[in-house]
Amino acid sequence: MPLPLIRLSISPTNGTAHHGVMVGTEPLTVCATHATDLALIAENTAHSLCQSCTRAWLILTTHPHPGGEPDLRPAVGTGKSATAHRPIPGHLLGYCGKPLDARPTSARRVCANCSSLAAALERFHRLAGEVSLLFEGSCPRDEDVLWAPNGRGNLVTGHRRHAASGTAWCGTLLSGPNPDASTECAPCRRAWRNERDRRSTVLPRMRSRARWWHQRRNVETFSGRAADLNNGDVYTVSGCPDQHHVLTVTHPARGRRLAALVYLPGQDEIVELGIHHDRLLVIERPQPPEAGMPRLS
Ligand SMILES: [Zn+2]
Ligand SMILES: [Zn+2]
Ligand SMILES: [Zn+2]
Repeated sequence: MPLPLIRLSISPTNGTAHHGVMVGTEPLTVCATHATDLALIAENTAHSLCQSCTRAWLILTTHPHPGGEPDLRPAVGTGKSATAHRPIPGHLLGYCGKPLDARPTSARRVCANCSSLAAALERFHRLAGEVSLLFEGSCPRDEDVLWAPNGRGNLVTGHRRHAASGTAWCGTLLSGPNPDASTECAPCRRAWRNERDRRSTVLPRMRSRARWWHQRRNVETFSGRAADLNNGDVYTVSGCPDQHHVLTVTHPARGRRLAALVYLPGQDEIVELGIHHDRLLVIERPQPPEAGMPRLS
């Protein structure tokens, strides 16, 4: 029986939480933090997740980049022979948390922080045996579910989450999904209805742009990070079969996810997706507008 990956903490209500498993009565974290009083915590608590565990989670649950990935990459802004880092699959982000360059490196010295998280994960796999992991879909759609407010005071009324701001459309701070909500917040519902109207206005344009796409001639294709996405780009990402036609992309402060409004030809729908800053994408970028190319706006 594979062990389920759970969140563990010393306090049941707040403090630092880790990802891990219980091996019998022994807590085992993925980052190798050890304390005998670590115990399973409830969902949507006020804990902040350990930084190493956050990255370990990405390592465990992200599909590798379809084009293959080197074992080591240099950090952004460093020379060819600078310290090498281990990339998290499907990301331009080191095990240590440093943003990495897409080019390979010839350096032989490997970052100590990358190596220590790799060693912690190796140990975790050895001691935990098989662990059941849900491979996170690359394009989680938060818009289809209702969310609970911060503090979870009112669990009857659910809110719509706005991916760009991370809060509800009505401005309420949110804690997590609330599938049991029986009514939808009225201001959220109004804002969400307007948003859907706005999308159906631009849908025909995005549809014809996607249909035209195979005729493109002047398109640059490269592997790059999500933070470099532009409006009008088309991208694919590991773990998702769809082509994503970017209508708009919102770049929040570093550390928060990007919000991209994209057209998915397979589903003939415009959806808003949250993307990790350092997610590795295959990006197709049109060069100065070609004749016949449907415009974005
Ligand atoms: Zn941890
Ligand atoms: Zn590193
Ligand atoms: Zn609301």
